[in-house]
Amino acid sequence: MRRCSIWPILMTGAVALGGCSRIRRDAPTLPEAHTLVREQLVIHSDFPLATQHRLVEDVTARRFDLARTLALPVSNEPIHIYLFEDAAPFRAFIRAHHPEFSDRRALFVETDTRLIVYAHWGDRVAEDLRHEVTHGYLHSIVPALPLWLDEGLAEYFEVRRGQDGMNRVHLDQLLARLDQGQWRPDLERLERFESAWDMTQEDYAESWAWVHFLLRSRVEHCELLQAYVEHLRREGAAAPMSLTLGRLPDQGGAALIEHLRRLGAEGHSA
Ligand SMILES: [Zn+2]
Repeated sequence: MRRCSIWPILMTGAVALGGCSRIRRDAPTLPEAHTLVREQLVIHSDFPLATQHRLVEDVTARRFDLARTLALPVSNEPIHIYLFEDAAPFRAFIRAHHPEFSDRRALFVETDTRLIVYAHWGDRVAEDLRHEVTHGYLHSIVPALPLWLDEGLAEYFEVRRGQDGMNRVHLDQLLARLDQGQWRPDLERLERFESAWDMTQEDYAESWAWVHFLLRSRVEHCELLQAYVEHLRREGAAAPMSLTLGRLPDQGGAALIEHLRRLGAEGHSA
């Protein structure tokens, strides 16, 4: 199951809703034995984490990668990362505090006052942290991103640095579905999603594809996305991106397919 992000959720409100009498004394708690601060990130863990750990370096560096890519300023708002050493206490915590997301490997939560990532150590912790911390960086600068763009950017930045946002799993899935005649790009459809709950793996893949197309196909497309995000940052809202892309033939769909086919061909010839 895909990870997910939820915002805005009033965590204090969620606790108050249940009333003090309903808070179990043995409720799973957050890992707070160790704290590591790196620029915007405050990493709380129940195990010691090397200051120079390459995963920490990686997610820290994403702050400027993202700002440079989108031509945005950086924020100093802390992003709290609660990193559990094992999956079991992480799942117990999420079940107790966010039961609707109990099947997730990692979670980003935005409250009125805090940006929070929950994750646990494991084979996919790097991908999970890069994805969820991207949400944190984005929300600290542009709080009102449309869901498709928020998830598309998180999928773009979750791959290793140096891969230029290439998410091979998504590319292969979309090209296969395209060849089977079971998928066509439709940004207007993506723009109608209001909750990550409703998005399938293919919807995440298509969100990634639009972001990759906008950032990596042509300079003018990249500038268009940068201007769009800057407008959202300043104004807090913007007309749907599909209206802008509507000027392109097939509302950008044909150009997106061409972009994906080119990426696929490059991958096979490499
Ligand atoms: Zn996400």
